[in-house]
Amino acid sequence: MKVPLLDLKLQYKTIKEEILKVTQDIFESQYFILGPHVETLEKDIARYCGTKHAVGVSSGTDALIISLMAAGIGDGDIVLTSPYTFFATAGSICRVGAKPVFADIDPETCNIDPESISRVADALSSKEKKRLKGIIPVHLYGQSAEMDTVLDFAKDYNLVTIEDAAQAIGSEYGEKRAGSMGDFGCFSFFPSKNLGAFGDGGMVTTDSDEFNHNLQILRNHGAEPKYYHKIVGGNFRLDALQAAIVSVKLKYLDSWTKGRRENALKYRELITAAGLDKFLTLPEERETRHIYNQFVINLTEKRDELRLFLQESGIGTEIYYPVPLHLQECFKGLGYKKGDFPVAEYAAEHTLALPVYSELSNDQIEYVVDKISAFYR
Ligand SMILES: *Cc1c(COP(=O)(O)O)cnc(C)c1O
Repeated sequence: MKVPLLDLKLQYKTIKEEILKVTQDIFESQYFILGPHVETLEKDIARYCGTKHAVGVSSGTDALIISLMAAGIGDGDIVLTSPYTFFATAGSICRVGAKPVFADIDPETCNIDPESISRVADALSSKEKKRLKGIIPVHLYGQSAEMDTVLDFAKDYNLVTIEDAAQAIGSEYGEKRAGSMGDFGCFSFFPSKNLGAFGDGGMVTTDSDEFNHNLQILRNHGAEPKYYHKIVGGNFRLDALQAAIVSVKLKYLDSWTKGRRENALKYRELITAAGLDKFLTLPEERETRHIYNQFVINLTEKRDELRLFLQESGIGTEIYYPVPLHLQECFKGLGYKKGDFPVAEYAAEHTLALPVYSELSNDQIEYVVDKISAFYR
């Protein structure tokens, strides 16, 4: 049996007619950049996330960069974030001239640990504290970070909070949706995300009229009006084609999320029934609505051998992420060393993502769990 990590062809089959119709309309109109399809998606995403505004941008990475720019964070500023996330989270901080400062993660959720944040912030020099301007909590794997504590902390230090919700559209923390709690919410429509375009795309959500205004201008080279530039922005625009495709998919997002959550539950039941708890930890689900962009287990031992064995059995898996960001070569200059964030370093060596996309069949899930059992037996 084959169980790929993700099979987007199955999803495409179910929406093909709608996609072809809307893309054909755009081809006929020859209107490709921003425009009515982008505006419609912006309204729908704002409503979906529970924010006043949403601004379509060119990718999840650009969503982070433009949010930092819109908040006025730049040269010499400091932004706190997690070392255990996709590279773009910290890369964006550097791209605007600021410096990422990391804090360790919670071993159970792999989200940033509020206690570690406080410790790291307290240890900054008074000069550094003055430059501390923002924090980027990441809702890793589709589960919200502990936002109550993060937001309290941000308030104490007067920080701008930018949620990296690239893996988490539709996830909830209490009553709140991802992207509606901080000053900005950043989303990615990279094809493999739970709401993916047919190429690159992203969105920024915000409740602030001022930030919204900044975002609108910055995504178009800072022009206001056209050809008059008070500030330097960039080309961070979203295509009409990508927006129209994401709009079609957004209607199905909740049913796909339901499928992912059911698959996660099925894994839990089968893994527990098979007595595999000795060898692995299941993903922690807090009071939040975890949308399982990834279903990530933690293997006590032999993670890499298991991965190879599953691969030979036709099962796709992935390691998110094998090298924590504080140990990346490009961040050598930040002065971190191995041992600085032991929880993130442990996660990098022990986590494994299993296929969880909504079209997965029960037989496939049973097959995956059988193979994990066979390996540890
Ligand atoms: C995917 C991702 C991004 C970047 O999104 P792109 O659309 O690929 O640029 C940023 N942060 C996290 C946590 C991601 O998973």
